[in-house]
Amino acid sequence: MCRDAGSQRDESIEGGTTTTTSSIAAASRVATDSLFDGPGEMRALCRAFDWSTTPLGPSTSWPQSLRTITAMLLASRNPMFLWWGPELTQIYNDAYRPSFGAEGRHPRALGMPGRECWTDIWPAIGPQIEQVMTTGEPTWHEDQYLPIERNGRLEDVWWTYSYSPVRDEEGRIAATLVVCQETTQRVESQRERDLLLEELRETEASLRESESRLRAIYDGTYEYIGLLAPDGTLLSANRASLEFADIRPDDVIGRHFADTPWFANTPGAAAAIRDGVRRAAAGEFVRFETDIQPPVGDCRTFDISLHPMRDERDNVVLIVPEGRDVTDRHRAEVALRESEARYRALFESLDAGLCVVEMLLDDQNRPLDCRFIEVNPAFMRQTGIDNPSGKLRSELGRGWDEFWMQTYANVAVTGQPIRIEAPTTLNGRWYDVYAFRIGRPDERRIAVLFNDVTATRTANAERDRLLRALEVERSRLEDVFKQAPAFLAVMRGPQHVFALANDAYYRLVGERELIGKPVLEALPEVADQGFRDLLDEVLATGTPYVGREVSVRIARTSGAEPEERFLDFVYLPLVEGEDVRAGIIAHGTDVTEQVLARREVERLYDLEQHARTVVEEAYRLAEAANRAKSQFLAVMSHELRTPLNAIGGYAELLEMGIRGPVTDEQREDLMRIQASQRHLLGLINEVLNYAKLETGTVSYDIGDVVVREVLVAAESLVAPQVRVKGLTLGTVDCQPDLVARADSEKLRQILVNLLSNAVKFTDSGGRVEMSCMADPAHVYIRVRDTGIGIPADKQHVIFDPFVQVRGDLARRHEGTGLGLAISRDLARAMGGDLTVESRLREGSTFTLVLPRATPTPS
Ligand code: ADP
Repeated sequence: MCRDAGSQRDESIEGGTTTTTSSIAAASRVATDSLFDGPGEMRALCRAFDWSTTPLGPSTSWPQSLRTITAMLLASRNPMFLWWGPELTQIYNDAYRPSFGAEGRHPRALGMPGRECWTDIWPAIGPQIEQVMTTGEPTWHEDQYLPIERNGRLEDVWWTYSYSPVRDEEGRIAATLVVCQETTQRVESQRERDLLLEELRETEASLRESESRLRAIYDGTYEYIGLLAPDGTLLSANRASLEFADIRPDDVIGRHFADTPWFANTPGAAAAIRDGVRRAAAGEFVRFETDIQPPVGDCRTFDISLHPMRDERDNVVLIVPEGRDVTDRHRAEVALRESEARYRALFESLDAGLCVVEMLLDDQNRPLDCRFIEVNPAFMRQTGIDNPSGKLRSELGRGWDEFWMQTYANVAVTGQPIRIEAPTTLNGRWYDVYAFRIGRPDERRIAVLFNDVTATRTANAERDRLLRALEVERSRLEDVFKQAPAFLAVMRGPQHVFALANDAYYRLVGERELIGKPVLEALPEVADQGFRDLLDEVLATGTPYVGREVSVRIARTSGAEPEERFLDFVYLPLVEGEDVRAGIIAHGTDVTEQVLARREVERLYDLEQHARTVVEEAYRLAEAANRAKSQFLAVMSHELRTPLNAIGGYAELLEMGIRGPVTDEQREDLMRIQASQRHLLGLINEVLNYAKLETGTVSYDIGDVVVREVLVAAESLVAPQVRVKGLTLGTVDCQPDLVARADSEKLRQILVNLLSNAVKFTDSGGRVEMSCMADPAHVYIRVRDTGIGIPADKQHVIFDPFVQVRGDLARRHEGTGLGLAISRDLARAMGGDLTVESRLREGSTFTLVLPRATPTPS
């Protein structure tokens, strides 16, 4: 702040008359004041300083009191500082100067007003100076902390100082004199000392703590520890050792270790201790095991050591006796040895081969080789390798199975045990192998336990195959049994408890709960139907029972009313073991449907029989009626023909003019009478013919007929009508040697009838033709026309008697509708038939079939 204050002042002075530097320069020009004579930096500065620029004025004008105190101050080796006058103008001595530090207020503080110089600590020192200046009471401050800015930073500074009033000649308080001592160094070293002391106290405390911890360990450990003087005198013993033999410290401290009660009950122990102490005192670390019998309890084994402790001159000054109860460890060792022996025996007697091997692997953990560490006798038996212990596998010349070696390598590396059944390429046999790591991982050791299971596997495979076959067979049988259409159930014991029932049986009894139930409990509705007695009897006698169409009333669905069923079944005794009848097999079929069907058939048969007699009677009556009708027709025809012939005869006589001349008109009438008479006679002849056929009074003269000849004869009969009608008649197309079996007269009659129809139903310009053909058994004669044809729905009725196809044309053609009926009857009577094929408006073809005559050998 002095610097800032100084620069402020520089500015003000620049604006005025002079500067501090110029003040010093000006001073050099003034006459030197003897006040500042003498050595020292501050005197030199004072000499050079232009005091006239300060409120004090030139030093020569200073009051005596100021001069005296300034002289005293500059001469003193004690750091001093003076604030003079109301402005507190500053003067200080060489001793004070170091307090400013390397860079600081010095030398600008000289002659500066105090308030400007010490802005940083003014709040602290201002009131003190004020107090001195107003009251005149001095102050005393010891090790006051007043941090000040020096050496370029804010430093921690301590001061011991006094502020004292300085009076002028008039006795007024003119200044404050500061006599001070910077105590920073002393304060800091004091603080360091305090710190050290504190640390010391802490170290001491932690030592005490550590000591008590050690003491706690010493006393708390279950091991037995003490301290001996080199001559064997017991100096101290921890709690464990005292408690071991129930000893109080006073009983043992100060006595020779060997003479203490610890060893009193154990012969030889004291001597061993005495010897040990002697050797330890000579600098040897002594350790031995001995049994010690405590006052109570079992004898224990101790591992005792005597540890010599030396001072810096290497003299043994203390002996630390230590005892460790190793009884349990000993026992464990013994147990281990015994167990080892047992395992060894097991190892030796195992049936399975066992070997311990060390795997030799490359850096990728791939197997290179393996060394046998140990093998059991079974190993040697199974492999045939004689004592390979210590040898490499490669030395045995037994080949190398990559799979197994890699498997073992994996076990050795991962420590994962493995159990596999697999073959080896070495001999093709199968082994059941269990391999596991033993020892440390880096030893790469594994134990391999194995068995040759080739025989077992083969046997197992065969057994599995048989079992599978058996299972297939069993399930097939089960399917057969279950799905058999016949029902089957097995009942066991005197109560006939259901043990088995197939699907058909369940269907029969309505899918109810059967298994495990006695028959009458499962099927209560059959209780009074006699089955129980039957079952009892079969079981008692062993004689099977066979029932046919036995009626049983049984409920087919749960809760339904029993209905009647008919069963064919057998009860067979179920024989098990030594001829013991264990139960009954019920086997049979539900024949209800067959029985009912048969009953229906029987009923229908009866009905049919009845109907047949009725029909036969009707037929007989019809036959009689038919015959009566035919006879009536025959008689009628005969009775009609006689007068008709007479009409014809008399008409002819008249026409011939025998009864007198006839006019042309009369002649025409006579011709019409004759035509009607012929027509009527023709009709009657046909009716007569048909009646004859129906009554069976027509006789046939069957013989070999040359078909062509008959065709030609028939053709010549119709040729005149064909011409009159303006039709074309095709030439007969028929092999001359074709011979049929027929009555030639009847055949001719049929053909004339067919040809007449063809002419009748074919308009002029049409064509009529005949042809024939044959197969080995038949002769086919066809009469074809190009006439009006017959509608399809009429073709089958035209052969019935008195049928004529109605239509516009019908009126134009006269006829009885008997021609085709007669012709077909004749054909059939000769062992042939007559059929038609026709298309309306295109024409008709009638085919007459006759038996073919076997050609006579010529
Ligand atoms: P009809 O004396 O009337 O000729 P048929 O028994 O010979 O009696 O014939 C029965 C009917 O069959 C005839 O009325 C006619 O309608 C029909 N019919 C027979 N032959 C022919 C044919 N060739 N073409 C067309 N219709 C025929």
